[in-house]
Amino acid sequence: MPASAAASAREILTGLHEVMAARGSVQSKLDRVVELIADKMQSEVCSIYLLRDGKLELFATHGLRKEAVHVTRLKLGEGLVGTIAEEGRILNLAEAAHHPAFAYRPETGEERFHSFAGVPIVRLESPIGVLAVQHAEPRRYEDVEIEALQTVAMVLSEMIGAARLVDGARRARIRSAGPLRLAGLKLVAGMARGEAVFHEPRVVVEHTVAEDIEAERDRVYSAFRKMREQIDSMTRDAEFGIAGEHQEILETYRMFAYDEGWSRRINEAIDSGLTAEAAIERVQQRMRARMRDIDDPLLQERMHDLEDLSNRLLRIVSGRMGTAAQTGLTRDTVLIARNLGPAELLEYDRRRLKAVLLEEGSLTSHMTIVARAIGIPVIGRLNDIRHSVEDGETILVDGDNGSVIIRPTRPLLTSFEQRMVMSHKRRAEFAAQKALPAVTRDGLQVGVMVNAGLAEDAASLDATGADGIGLFRTEFQFLVSATLPGRDRQQRLYTRVLEFAGDRPVVFRTVDIGGDKALPYLSDVHDEAENPAMGWRALRLSLDRSTLMIAQARALIEASAGRVLRVMFPMVSEPWEYEEARKLVEEQVEWARKAHRKLPTRIEYGAMLEVPSLAETLDQLLPRVDFLSIGTNDLTQFLFAADRSDPRLAQRYDWLSPAILRFLKRVLDAAREADVPVRVCGEMAGRPLEAMALVGLGADAVSITPAGVGPVKAMVRSLDAAALRKRLDQLLARPPRDMRKALTDWARRHSVTID
Ligand code: PEP
Ligand code: MG
Repeated sequence: MPASAAASAREILTGLHEVMAARGSVQSKLDRVVELIADKMQSEVCSIYLLRDGKLELFATHGLRKEAVHVTRLKLGEGLVGTIAEEGRILNLAEAAHHPAFAYRPETGEERFHSFAGVPIVRLESPIGVLAVQHAEPRRYEDVEIEALQTVAMVLSEMIGAARLVDGARRARIRSAGPLRLAGLKLVAGMARGEAVFHEPRVVVEHTVAEDIEAERDRVYSAFRKMREQIDSMTRDAEFGIAGEHQEILETYRMFAYDEGWSRRINEAIDSGLTAEAAIERVQQRMRARMRDIDDPLLQERMHDLEDLSNRLLRIVSGRMGTAAQTGLTRDTVLIARNLGPAELLEYDRRRLKAVLLEEGSLTSHMTIVARAIGIPVIGRLNDIRHSVEDGETILVDGDNGSVIIRPTRPLLTSFEQRMVMSHKRRAEFAAQKALPAVTRDGLQVGVMVNAGLAEDAASLDATGADGIGLFRTEFQFLVSATLPGRDRQQRLYTRVLEFAGDRPVVFRTVDIGGDKALPYLSDVHDEAENPAMGWRALRLSLDRSTLMIAQARALIEASAGRVLRVMFPMVSEPWEYEEARKLVEEQVEWARKAHRKLPTRIEYGAMLEVPSLAETLDQLLPRVDFLSIGTNDLTQFLFAADRSDPRLAQRYDWLSPAILRFLKRVLDAAREADVPVRVCGEMAGRPLEAMALVGLGADAVSITPAGVGPVKAMVRSLDAAALRKRLDQLLARPPRDMRKALTDWARRHSVTID
């Protein structure tokens, strides 16, 4: 904006500030506002329309007939004013009557005026009214005039919002926006209903008129600096695969973050007398309005990135950097985010958190695994969800089908609730079967255990009727702690878990940190590797950091005093790593013996097979282990060279592919020959059809997410394992194009319960 225009906008703002600060009714203030604008902009007409009871009502005017005030009312979408409000766009017309939406209102006496310009008055990203000027002369308004109007509209929105003159912005939008159904990728099954809460909340701008322009400028400068630092460090981390945000997105972020044009426009808005917050918002609104007219999906996408960034800048400048977890949830919540880490998820109050919707997300990322473990439905790959929903809107989440309904109508809500009852009923039926043994129709016993990671998860043993905990992910305690959990804290957790489990076995896996499980208090664990999943993580890190491993081994030994200790090591790639880890635990047993501690009655040692190289050295490993556990999450990522947390690969490879099934069969056959029990503990095993294939391949036990126990047990009980084995042998010898379909067909023909 040229200096003179900035000065005139500033004059209007100073005047507005005085009007707002003066005593008097809101109506009298609005009357003064239209006079002020008409005077400063030398405009023949200035009118304010506000949304009340779903209609745009003429609230104040200079230049139109006063009798029309509170009489002229337009529907959203009706006339020029209705079009501006409904579409959230600016109109600038030399000849108003030529516009297709023009609707003549005789009571206003507006027939004399030819030109018309109007801007929406926006609150919480929703239009709540319209500010319009008119002239008798047919002319288009200058850009600077429109910008001045937008600046005024921004300040008006604060005043109107504070006076509660209009329908709540959210209510108004819900009224105008109908229900919306979106389909995504089902990550964790389950149905839920709740209100939308943004993981990174949006900021509502409270103060729009600056007291001290230089101070506002400083605030914006320092916010820009901070934001650029954040984006730089996220980009650096993402190169190492930690941040969970895509490189591409971050590159665009960086580009925008350093965009001189953007910062200049914000600065100009500050010049015109706005606060830093209002200036950021004002520039964002202008950009939104411009983009609305461009029909290019690629540009729209970029626009969202810029919105994100603008929002980030707003949050920095207003000092509201916390996530919704820090503010606390006050109602049944459906959490909305681009992506989430496991630790971030665990910060939420689980009584209130009902579901999570992500724009990214993948089936085997640790956040998904944690959500599955605590029974929170998650849908991923919901493109643009953050821009399709408002904070507080009702959302129905159908994690069983991977779909969501935003702003449901009553009939949609009723039918959803009926399905939710059915789904709960089905779960109750599974629960009723919990005491029944997992034995196939031809008498094969299949061990069904659960995966756990927190003390509360152990409680699910009783609820599900599982045979024990086949994988206790000890790193979860590290993930949810602000500081490194010492030996005492670890021991207390293990003792509690063992107490919960009673006679049922618990297999503790030593920590698998690193990869996508970075710990803030172990900063050197985010090492500068380009592929952290294949980097210094799990047993590799534990062997190099033996103090960590020693503390954990001692905690496990002490917690298992007088009982069997079952311990296994993650990411064993070569037998010597297993040997070293085992030796380290054995040395701690010696330490405990010398210290006259009560010892475990027996220790069983196991290795996780999740790095393919181990399959080639099973002859050396098997004689040395008491059991083997196959981690299909990592195994498949390494077999296919496909990052398990990359959403773009989430659906690319199938767990039922011949490559995986043949690989698993080879391992299972070798273990059977060596008489070593094998349990499959990846997410794959928790799905009935996949679990069926595993039983067919000869797996004698699975360890799965608690919610999978009922469905997997029902599958086992309806299965003829010998018949399946025969069929699988044929299928693996000559794999069909679609193995999943072939197995599904077989299951249906043989009445196996797979869904
Ligand atoms: C696996 O990799 O399959 C596994 C069970 O371990 P995690 O998912 O914890 O890496
Ligand atoms: Mg693993």
